[in-house]
Amino acid sequence: MLEALLETRFAPCPYCGHEQEWAFDTSAGAQVFHEECDLCYALVEVHFYVDMQGSLAHFELKREMD
Ligand SMILES: [Zn+2]
Repeated sequence: MLEALLETRFAPCPYCGHEQEWAFDTSAGAQVFHEECDLCYALVEVHFYVDMQGSLAHFELKREMD
């Protein structure tokens, strides 16, 4: 099941501070992807890293302009 590979975390949008749930597909290892904020619709650059067990180890949300 694809859904089993998704991990979710709550974190604030780097633009507006709106707390929301972000989904990480950890099946393919560390990645960078872009996701729109639910509130301000800004495009957030999401970086994440996966540990040896394939679990989400660390993530960062960045403004695309930075
Ligand atoms: Zn936002």
